[in-house]
Amino acid sequence: MTPQQAAAAGRDGFRQRFGTGPDGVWLAPGRVNLIGEHTDYQQGLCLPIAIERHTAVAARRRQDGRVRAWSGVLAAAAEADLRSLAPRPGPNWFNYVAGVLAGLGIPRGVDLFVFGDLPLGAGLSSSAALEMAVAVALNDLFALSRTPEQLAAVGQRAENLFAGVNSGIMDQMASALGQARKALLLDTRIPTVSAVPFVPEDAGLALVVIDTRAAHQVSGGGYQARFEEARAAAAALGVPALRDAREAEVERLGDPLLRRRARHIVTENARVVEVVAAAGRGDWPAVGQAFFASHRSLAMDYEVSHPALDLVVSVAREVPGVLGARLTGAGFGGSAIALLRTEAEAELIARLRAQYARRGWAPFTCAAVQAAAGARRVEGGGTPG
Ligand code: ADP
Ligand code: MG
Repeated sequence: MTPQQAAAAGRDGFRQRFGTGPDGVWLAPGRVNLIGEHTDYQQGLCLPIAIERHTAVAARRRQDGRVRAWSGVLAAAAEADLRSLAPRPGPNWFNYVAGVLAGLGIPRGVDLFVFGDLPLGAGLSSSAALEMAVAVALNDLFALSRTPEQLAAVGQRAENLFAGVNSGIMDQMASALGQARKALLLDTRIPTVSAVPFVPEDAGLALVVIDTRAAHQVSGGGYQARFEEARAAAAALGVPALRDAREAEVERLGDPLLRRRARHIVTENARVVEVVAAAGRGDWPAVGQAFFASHRSLAMDYEVSHPALDLVVSVAREVPGVLGARLTGAGFGGSAIALLRTEAEAELIARLRAQYARRGWAPFTCAAVQAAAGARRVEGGGTPG
């Protein structure tokens, strides 16, 4: 979806739904995390890129305190009153929107038409894209003058308090601050982002995302369990966060489960630093090796992989020209990434397809992604009314 397509689809969709044109159209990208997985809730490092898949919102201010929202993807409507915004029980898509509305404290209501080409629940962070699309829209429409970092924090709180997911700030920062041809080295302690060059395409390589189609559900118990285990490991080590632990100290932890969990986070932080350095000097084989090492750590020590993700990575290891592969996002299903020579992609897909067919699994999808720009307005905007 190009910005022009988003603007046109937003105008038309909004008009069909609400009977008038919108004040403007905004979009926010999904993200792929290159490396640094499950580190962002222990004040660690990660390295996401924003990608050219978006959630968009066409919005119009209202004179009263009502909010009306429509999601084209889900074909679902929701309504609320600004004075009584509260989390709704169960998984409910409007919680991500309501959390942002509550976090920004806007003076009057809005109508929101949500659409886009970012798949939901595929590990590409559609939840953060939804939050950031709504956040940039409200920031512009009501001239709130929040920085992208502040909007990201509002999105994270929406996810934590309204959606009930104890996620870190990576997804929102990536969606808010993405840049073309750059990866974002995110230090979640401060939090702050520095853009570092990431252009594998210039070396004849591609980064592909393989959506395994295995269900990924962060509101399931696994994510919360890891969040608590990581916190328990930090407490056992007497550090404020696992960011501060050293590998040698971790190996002395008495509890074998907490030791494995802590080992993943500590070694993963080190791999982020390695990948930034390797990508900077164009050492793509080293980047690929770090991807494989990350996957092993996530599968063995952190135990957040899934048979479909393990299959992708083991097939990737066998295909000449694939430099590295790993699960990306929270795991438990969802997507994997592979860094490969462009000519190796067809072979990877063919071999994986054969393995999927043998198991009778529903087909996966595979698409190349490139580092892309962050959340922004694509049409209109207007002054506060
Ligand atoms: P991910 O962020 O990896 O895609 P999550 O489970 O964190 O997976 O978030 C997916 C949820 O976010 C969806 O189930 C839905 O509630 C909400 N969501 C994301 N995009 C949209 C959208 N375009 N319309 C409605 N809800 C959406
Ligand atoms: Mg999410």
